[in-house]
Amino acid sequence: MSTLTSSLLDIKKIRLQFPVLHQQVNGKPLIYFDNAATNQKPKQVIEALTHYYQHDNANIHRGIHTLAERATRAFEETRLAMQHFINARATAEIIFTRGVTESINLVASSYGRAFLKEGDEIILSALEHHSNIVPWQLIAQEKKATIHVIPVFDSGELDLDAYRKLLSTKTKIVSVNHASNSLGTINPVKEIIRLAHQAGAIVLIDGAQAAAHIEIDVQDLDCDFYCISSHKMYGPTGAGILYGKKEILDEMPPYMGGGEMISDVTFARTTFNELPYKFEAGTPNIADVIALHEAVQFIDSLGKENIAAHESELLEYAAENLATIPSVKLIGTAKEKVAVQSFNIEGIHPFDVGQLLDAQGIAVRTGHHCTQPLMDRFGIEGTVRASFSVYNTKEEIDNLVKCLRKLTQLSYGK
Ligand code: PMP
Repeated sequence: MSTLTSSLLDIKKIRLQFPVLHQQVNGKPLIYFDNAATNQKPKQVIEALTHYYQHDNANIHRGIHTLAERATRAFEETRLAMQHFINARATAEIIFTRGVTESINLVASSYGRAFLKEGDEIILSALEHHSNIVPWQLIAQEKKATIHVIPVFDSGELDLDAYRKLLSTKTKIVSVNHASNSLGTINPVKEIIRLAHQAGAIVLIDGAQAAAHIEIDVQDLDCDFYCISSHKMYGPTGAGILYGKKEILDEMPPYMGGGEMISDVTFARTTFNELPYKFEAGTPNIADVIALHEAVQFIDSLGKENIAAHESELLEYAAENLATIPSVKLIGTAKEKVAVQSFNIEGIHPFDVGQLLDAQGIAVRTGHHCTQPLMDRFGIEGTVRASFSVYNTKEEIDNLVKCLRKLTQLSYGK
């Protein structure tokens, strides 16, 4: 069987849907392994953007003319698609934001300001991206709350016993990622949520790295908030969602004030719009939200299970083959992982590895991946990170391994 064709997906055919992949970079065919930062967009997503601006461009919700109605309908259809994508109970629970960063800031700021008080505790994990650390630090400082951190084992798995010990009646919020962008670890979020609820805390899940890879069912997880960025699930940049349980969102004050989020305004007093519009002040990112619908349909057309199966095959293949290079040290070896493999090469700075690979047309990410506390935990400055998507192939991984082997032989004269 060709390595281009996984058992259920025709990868060659899928690749044809991604125009950006078919180019030379530095004289070599592009190999794009920076999918955890942002993945590439299929033609139908790109075409949806152009179609919107060529045919339907209008501001939404307030207009009564035909274009405004078309734009509003398409925008709201994405909300419905996202509701189904994560199995939320209602569209009122889907708030459009710019992405995970804004979603977390919204919750930290609105929920935190309304409900946190001095002495309360927030639990994060050592695996968090800066965007799931800094918003909590800002509100914790304001409210004199304390942040505790679930430690991580050398494998990249969280220490759940330590988590159990951190939980107490003082714990008000637990905020962790579904999957780590630096190490790939898939966290046992259902158990993390169950334990937090037992202690009386609410839970936010950062789903940035999960949306394109893991089946998400917010009702089954029973999380209170779930955050997604469109650009990590084949959709455009600048769009994303915050899912929140309606009963909690109802109790939260608005995050930003402006048009759209109001019901009635006088200089004396303003009343707020119903959910989800209460949290959607101003003109949103209409075109990108509309194109996100195509990304959802793309994922659904392939089936997340099939995508995950192909990516797992790639991850296993990459880990096995990278490990055969003597000076390579794999970082992040959890049993359950999304298709992210971090590594370092003894004696060569990750940045240099990244540059040398770029010269061969191979795009990887190097550095701390916005997880500096995690890098500190591992005593490293950063890693080289190869992250895989549905359009990647084993041949591309062979090329990566070949380039790295050559690089280490040149460095060590072996
Ligand atoms: N959390 C994780 C785990 C991420 O990987 C990222 C993006 N690298 C973010 C949060 C932030 O996402 P965005 O920049 O799309 O807001």
